[in-house]
Amino acid sequence: MFSYRHGFHAGNHADVLKHTVLIAVVKHLTAKDSPLSVIDTHAGAGLYRLDDDFAGTSGEALDGIHKLRQAVVSAPLLQDYIELVASFNRPGETRIYPGSPFVVQALLRKAARDKLHLFEMHPTDSKALAAHVEQLQAGKQVTQQRADGFESLKALLPPPSRRALVLVDPSYEIKSDYSKVVAALQDSLKRFATGVYMVWYPVIPRPEAHDLPRRLKTLSNNAGKPWLHATLSIGHAEEKKERPGLTASGVFIVNPPHTVKEGLQVALPEMLAVLGRGKGKGTTLESS
Ligand code: SAM
Repeated sequence: MFSYRHGFHAGNHADVLKHTVLIAVVKHLTAKDSPLSVIDTHAGAGLYRLDDDFAGTSGEALDGIHKLRQAVVSAPLLQDYIELVASFNRPGETRIYPGSPFVVQALLRKAARDKLHLFEMHPTDSKALAAHVEQLQAGKQVTQQRADGFESLKALLPPPSRRALVLVDPSYEIKSDYSKVVAALQDSLKRFATGVYMVWYPVIPRPEAHDLPRRLKTLSNNAGKPWLHATLSIGHAEEKKERPGLTASGVFIVNPPHTVKEGLQVALPEMLAVLGRGKGKGTTLESS
């Protein structure tokens, strides 16, 4: 069974990268009047407390959102991210961290009939997600199910609105997740070629992780679709930790909105300046 719980990692550097990009993508897609469907295949619990046992034990948010909220940033994408996280908290505090479902929902429009479909497999996190979604009282705008996101995605494409963003953000606990991501994108592009597909992945010394961006580039190129690929590595901490944890991650987007690259050109160096720790730190940004 699954042992990954996103609560241990909420608000870390990987969430900063992922959610900053996610906000930029959703903001672009909601600038048009027509309805948008967002499908979050691996939703997590939706909301996290940064002062509970999970986050408190790991301390990962200290190298992520906490550092960023203390910094003065000028990149518009980072300002948008900080502002959105702040909207879930009392002034001056960062106790609540919104996961991808709440990041997206905060930007959706009722009047435009935008929709959010959430899938989460973990029994506890799926229950927590259901309770958090209930509190939103968002009615039909948000649906959530305890189901396999890779499988459930198929029935939702193409969406009636013909405009969709799919976020694929597995925990990669199981090695087969890497191939499932590639297969899901391949299948989805056949069903709905104009969708925007965003994949998060960990940069770790494992062949499957190393190969994933290359496989995603090949599949996008073969499908004749543009792509954007961004990575952030905060490098190793000066003090030697027994388990250094994740130090780098990447985001790959197929059919990226054209404004995202130029936003990231400004935001990534600033993200690195605030979050970078030591040996191995850096960012990359490339596109087709
Ligand atoms: N997207 C969330 C966010 O940004 O706040 C974080 C998601 S976390 C990285 C990955 C989640 O996927 C975990 O909560 C895990 O329980 C869940 N999960 C694992 N396999 C799944 C599957 N096949 N379908 C749906 N959820 C799955």
